[in-house]
Amino acid sequence: MADAAHNADPELFDKIVNLSKRRGFVFQSAEIYGGFRSTYDYGPIGVLLLRNVKDQWWRSMVQLRNDVVGLDASILSPPPVWEASGHLANFTDPLVDCRECNERFREDKLDDPDTCPNCGEKNSFTEARSFNLMFKTHAGPVEGSGHDVYLRPETAQGMFTNFMNVLNTSRKKPPFGIAQIGKSFRNEITPGNFVFRTREFEQMEMEFFVPPDEAQQWYEYWCQERMNWYLDLGMNPEKVRLRPHDSDELSHYSSGTSDVEFVFPWGWDELEGIANRGDYDLTQHANHASERIEYVDSSDGSRYVPHVIEPAAGATRTMMAFLMDAYNEETVNDETRTVLKLDPRLAPYKVAVLPLSKKDTLTPTAREVFDMVAPHYMTDYDETQAIGKRYRRQDEVGTPLCVTVDFETIEDRAVTVRDRDTMAQDRVAIDQLLSYLAERLPQ
Ligand code: ATP
Repeated sequence: MADAAHNADPELFDKIVNLSKRRGFVFQSAEIYGGFRSTYDYGPIGVLLLRNVKDQWWRSMVQLRNDVVGLDASILSPPPVWEASGHLANFTDPLVDCRECNERFREDKLDDPDTCPNCGEKNSFTEARSFNLMFKTHAGPVEGSGHDVYLRPETAQGMFTNFMNVLNTSRKKPPFGIAQIGKSFRNEITPGNFVFRTREFEQMEMEFFVPPDEAQQWYEYWCQERMNWYLDLGMNPEKVRLRPHDSDELSHYSSGTSDVEFVFPWGWDELEGIANRGDYDLTQHANHASERIEYVDSSDGSRYVPHVIEPAAGATRTMMAFLMDAYNEETVNDETRTVLKLDPRLAPYKVAVLPLSKKDTLTPTAREVFDMVAPHYMTDYDETQAIGKRYRRQDEVGTPLCVTVDFETIEDRAVTVRDRDTMAQDRVAIDQLLSYLAERLPQ
């Protein structure tokens, strides 16, 4: 849902796309064949940033809690799963064609429903048709009905269909959650805005199962928890907000949904949805599979179908938001310094080891420092170009600390550590380096 926002910055979009290509965050997929539209590959730096976003989510949702367990469910599933979930019938977007230029659009995302944004023609749209967003393929060598399978359009159904398996094996009881990170696929009508809306993307979803009378309080809890996650990782509080849905936006089974939104260059748009889904999902699967899906309290034999609170976030979209939020240009000595002020926990490289020159005298000590640091932190090693240029390269990808090995190092067994944000430098003994880094690089 995009609307005008006072702090949206339209120029930022091109800067991020350029930086992504130039420094190896994100590449167009199949670029050597002309590119496959709206599909992206994460390069050497991007894969680290994306992984750190996912790791931080997992750490806060699973590792630091004893009421959430993890899952990694399959991407392919048979039609009954999607019949029960409602996706076969309802996971559709309204598709309109412009009769003038033949472009296709998602009707609910048009700024003006009577004017084609491509050719400007008025009243040229066809009647809206429901277009199912699921990718269908077939399992095994034979095509046709009976062999159809779908690529999941969300990770959530794996948590619902495995609810009894997890309940019976994990010794958890409501309130407890199941979390999953993984790829999802949607045949979006209008993908775009770089990695914001793609046909293949990664989600971070958690289903939190609660006694029915506790649903509202847990819904409020998770709205707050999820907002705090973005803020704790350094997102500018002016660029992120929690927006409760109006009653006409709610799906029929949801008694409350809020979106975490970020100010993208085109305005406020969704990073994550937190929904109070009632018992809809478990009841649907129980009815369609003719299985009992419920919690039985062993102390008194009482039973109920848990209600579900679902925080559903996009990993790839969130990575882009952190990238945009961290992007800064500063003037230093009459030159523009581009610096990604990423939280160190998200930074692709935590440390860069930079021998002052490529001379053989420095290489063994610089290698020794790299070998000491690399087991603890993702570390880059770069020995070509002038040191100033190498600092700038590290600033551009958000490396919090650069460790320079110079000619004095050979004498005094100390290195210079430069801070990304302040550019201040400290001289640190090599045998103190790990504890110096540990103080500045939280997990
Ligand atoms: P929209 O209305 O924008 O199509 P949605 O409300 O259907 O999205 P959800 O089904 O709630 O999205 O998915 C949860 C999260 O997954 C979204 O908040 C978003 O971060 C991410 N996501 C959904 N679709 C895409 C996509 N096509 N590309 C990238 N991320 C996506």
